[in-house]
Amino acid sequence: MFVDKAKIHIKAGDGGDGCVSFHREKYIAAGGPDGGDGGKGGDIVFQVDSSMTNLIEFRAKRKFAADKGADGSGKNCSGKNAEPLVIKVPRGTVIKDCESGRILADMSGDEPVVVAQGGKGGRGNAHFATSTRQIPKFAKPGFRGDEYDVILELKLIADVGLVGFPNVGKSTLISVISAARPKIANYHFTTLTPVLGVVKLNDEKSYVVADIPGLIEGASDGVGLGHEFLRHVERCRLIVHVVDASGIEGRDPVEDIGIIDRELANFSEELAAAKQIVAANKCDMASREQIDRLKNYVESRGMRFFEISAATTSGTKELALAIGEELDKLPPVKYYEPQPLTEEELREKLVANRDFSVTVEDGVYFVEAPWLWDILRTVNVDSYDSLLYFQKVLRDTGVIDKLEQMGIQEGDTVSIFDFEFEFVK
Ligand code: GDP
Ligand code: MG
Repeated sequence: MFVDKAKIHIKAGDGGDGCVSFHREKYIAAGGPDGGDGGKGGDIVFQVDSSMTNLIEFRAKRKFAADKGADGSGKNCSGKNAEPLVIKVPRGTVIKDCESGRILADMSGDEPVVVAQGGKGGRGNAHFATSTRQIPKFAKPGFRGDEYDVILELKLIADVGLVGFPNVGKSTLISVISAARPKIANYHFTTLTPVLGVVKLNDEKSYVVADIPGLIEGASDGVGLGHEFLRHVERCRLIVHVVDASGIEGRDPVEDIGIIDRELANFSEELAAAKQIVAANKCDMASREQIDRLKNYVESRGMRFFEISAATTSGTKELALAIGEELDKLPPVKYYEPQPLTEEELREKLVANRDFSVTVEDGVYFVEAPWLWDILRTVNVDSYDSLLYFQKVLRDTGVIDKLEQMGIQEGDTVSIFDFEFEFVK
């Protein structure tokens, strides 16, 4: 089975916990705090595995979690960072955040990509000693690792996409110009999965062609098979529109071109805008008038026209060479840039999900909230405006109310992650 879409859950490791410990040595009475920090949780990393052709493995396994960082220990020993968890995917897999639809990574290249970050380790009590608090009896837990539901979408990497109605001869054409051997038969939807073929023009020059199941009217609305497979020609640099010039199935090839164009446009603007050429197939069975009428129409629309017969191979060599020439003039295969959240979106998202807890230890008010960590990362503590913003967030999300309920007084210390400040009313 060919699976080209999957939904999985990924969870990077949480950070290890900080440790509470005090220095002990013979004859030394009260040693200082020496609890070490927790280690970083494992990242979730994606990497291309060229031997994989589709996403079927993700039918069986849908949950991936990296390990937690090790806890800190005494003598200022930090916990070990956890190893990243590497998930192998076929080349061309695009990873999207399920919730927002944002692109997290395009796995086209060989470089591994970190998609979910492991949590930072919690701080050991050695960090919390101050001149007034010499015996900190607390440490902090590790931070949560990123967690997402993600959609994996395979978008094959091909230079050229063959599109057209079923039975026009797309599979026959790819089998003639490349070494690919898809199933060919005189019935609709013989091709059920995309097939890639490498067309070798000479020792230096080759390109990849994708043959996908035939399109029919309504494909972009989910009729037939075509719609699901159009994503495999989305990256293509050139679309070769294959039509049956003989009209043997009773359709008019000129109308066919219009219908397929509309299907491409309904699927995506990018596909509609892609460079196209037309391969008029089955010319062995078409009359001169039929061919000329089609040719005039295609050329009047500014597209190049090729008269071929995949069955007899007449004209296929010329077509293959012309495709090579066109590709020389076109930009490389499309790469999907990751779409990070803007600072504002990040804040909005974090504030929307705002659980927090406040604990008092040694007179210090500790605010724990994973979302605040990310907000704090975007705050510049040296900038007055930035601090005002931070205060507003604390007020809007009820943190200040909570602190007041717990009896905080002016001048008490509030500790949020690495940031400590004096409370001012
Ligand atoms: P696809 O559905 O577009 O992939 O079409 P196929 O390649 O499976 O071909 C459909 C039918 O058309 C098969 O019976 C082929 O043998 C036949 N066919 C393909 N190309 C030609 C051609 O150039 N001339 C003729 N006469 N028949 C062809
Ligand atoms: Mg086919």
